[in-house]
Amino acid sequence: MKSVVSHRQCSTCNWWRRHRPGKPVRQHRCVRNHFGSARSMESESGEKAILDLAKAGTPVEIIEGDGDNTLLARLKSKHGISLKKKYDKNHVMKNLGKSLYSLQNEKGIKISKITIAHLQKCVSYALSKNSGDLTGLQDNLRAIVPHNFGDHQLCQPRFCDYLRNKDVTYIHRSLPYKSSLTGETLRKRLEDIMTPFIAKASQLVDLGSSQQCEHANREVSLKAPKNIYFGGSEALDHRVEATAAFINEGRRYIVDVSTVKLFCCWYVETFTKFVNVCS
Ligand SMILES: [Zn+2]
Ligand SMILES: [Zn+2]
Repeated sequence: MKSVVSHRQCSTCNWWRRHRPGKPVRQHRCVRNHFGSARSMESESGEKAILDLAKAGTPVEIIEGDGDNTLLARLKSKHGISLKKKYDKNHVMKNLGKSLYSLQNEKGIKISKITIAHLQKCVSYALSKNSGDLTGLQDNLRAIVPHNFGDHQLCQPRFCDYLRNKDVTYIHRSLPYKSSLTGETLRKRLEDIMTPFIAKASQLVDLGSSQQCEHANREVSLKAPKNIYFGGSEALDHRVEATAAFINEGRRYIVDVSTVKLFCCWYVETFTKFVNVCS
């Protein structure tokens, strides 16, 4: 893991501006290193991380994340670097959830939470089961909406219980009242949501897992909780770097850091003694 910490604020600068207006700020290690908008921070930091990594001999080829293209566009236009983009499952599912829930606010459409959760589950299964199989994924995604409306023409036995046990009366166990969805408008709107999804199936067929990213996020939030403000000083840098060290090296990083510290103390002590003896 590599960390880049950007600061828009510096507590020392802020203090001097507030308490000693007009006077030059005292000399300090200023942490302010981002002067653009808060919005551009993510892509600027990403750009720095990718350039640093390339310099260190580990060029980045694939970038995982949500639908945000700012970083990619930036790298291409400024440095001529074109990276492959990979969606991660969490973001894909989040975006789908957003569009499904927005249906609830549309006039003439009734869709319950249970239905939305079920549709999300169907898509999630389709993505996991067809990993690496583009046509399989497209077929599966195309069949989801019709299947839930009781229309199994596009279904395949591998993902449709109705086709697997035709002799038994099929019920939609996870849908409200255990029956198929109804309503032409609803079906049309659901198809509208699924169409772009199916169109970009090639980008979804090999989804990255965001597990490591979520893990890193959680670890950072343990060392730098969001409810405490660390952004104005180097405290944030140290906390983020400690997290990176922990993720890269495991808990051993603490022992290693203290060994280095002990060595430094010993070195300083002997060295000063040595100087004392000499002088
Ligand atoms: Zn400062
Ligand atoms: Zn079916």
